[in-house]
Amino acid sequence: MGKKLLLDKIQIENLSSYQVYRQNGGYEAVEKALKKLTPDEVLEEVKKSGLRGRGGAGFPTGMKWSFIAKPEGVPRYLLCNADESEPGTFKDRFLMEKNPHLLIEGMILSSYALGCNTAYIYIRGEFMWIMHILEKAIAEAYANGWLGTNILGKGYNLDLYVSPGAGAYICGEETALIESLEGKRGNPRIKPPFPAVKGLWQCPTVVNNVETLAAVVPIINHGGEAYASVGIGRSTGTKLISACGNISKPGVYEIEMGISVEEFIYSDEYCGGIKDGKRIKACVPGGSSVPILPHYLITKTATGTERLMSYESLSEGGFASGSMLGSGGFIVYDEDQCIVRNTWNFTRFYHHESCGQCSPCREGTGWMEKVLHRIEYGHGQMRDIDLLWDVQKKIEGNTICPLGDAAAWPVASAIRHFREEFEWHINEPELCLKQNYGLVKEPAITV
Ligand code: SF4
Repeated sequence: MGKKLLLDKIQIENLSSYQVYRQNGGYEAVEKALKKLTPDEVLEEVKKSGLRGRGGAGFPTGMKWSFIAKPEGVPRYLLCNADESEPGTFKDRFLMEKNPHLLIEGMILSSYALGCNTAYIYIRGEFMWIMHILEKAIAEAYANGWLGTNILGKGYNLDLYVSPGAGAYICGEETALIESLEGKRGNPRIKPPFPAVKGLWQCPTVVNNVETLAAVVPIINHGGEAYASVGIGRSTGTKLISACGNISKPGVYEIEMGISVEEFIYSDEYCGGIKDGKRIKACVPGGSSVPILPHYLITKTATGTERLMSYESLSEGGFASGSMLGSGGFIVYDEDQCIVRNTWNFTRFYHHESCGQCSPCREGTGWMEKVLHRIEYGHGQMRDIDLLWDVQKKIEGNTICPLGDAAAWPVASAIRHFREEFEWHINEPELCLKQNYGLVKEPAITV
């Protein structure tokens, strides 16, 4: 089994067309599943593969599927979360644009395993050109008998639709996505009940990320065990990483789980090192919502072990000295970047995107934005740092959906690791605004 499972054919010209996709092995996994496997056997392969949700949470996909309720006579739905809008994350749109049939094939397999006859791709409204690519690919799949009634003469029916969002980041939260798909304002629901029991139209529903659903194709083609043999420990398979910031080669990369962070940042196969020969200052390894890592915790953990690109290694040390793999939005900062400004920028985003249902998130994100703005622009006071810490603590864990945590964690980690940069902004506002922002010193004890 190769080490590229989703982007292995991405260089093939016109891969988004049905003929080219089919000529290169496309829809063979659907043929295999419908002709040789029962829905439960497809589910079993996904369980064996160890595949974990690629949208950010990393929950085991097979387990999630096994939670779906199966009341008699009630339809079940599969929803593809293509509302990718986390700052720094741009892998799903790349996959959908270049290889839309891979997602469609993954959705047919997943719907078959779940017993769904209707599935939706909920796509970010700003990706209108990708929506047209998907619609064309879906029409081709219908025309060639992969969607519709009695697929491959096996009595299985599936209809697939694309539905655009209207530009709200919160609609990437699964229950807000469901509300939006039902035509309502995208407010997250209080859980329980979970979507697996009461989701779209109050029916059992599974929501999976684009990359997760696409990964079901190589799992069925090669078998769950073969997929699990790639990667490391409980981080099986490959992961798409969108790399950006101050690196020589920004882009979307497919890595085998478990390669070292050092290799990912510095090898020519991936990011190609820090741009213009500068030093690395910090890194956000999993999209804007995960904790930022200072330079001395990026390639090594606090205990000195090598930091790897895996769920476990990136979170080693907890929030004191670790971060998360998250959505795979890998943002690198060189020595000239300002952490206070970056934190303010992220917070401004979360304040803008808060749906406003819970006061800790609605009010807290606004307060944090204001306090960070005044520190960045030279009007901060020393007590503002403690105020920020206090506000983020009161948001974390006290909200309906994870957006509250996503807003709190970048602030907490920035203060934890870069407190002296905040203090410098307050003590030397004019100098600080003029100069570049040097590296923080490594503390004697890093945990
Ligand atoms: Fe809305 Fe924020 Fe509450 Fe989520 S945490 S439900 S975004 S107010």
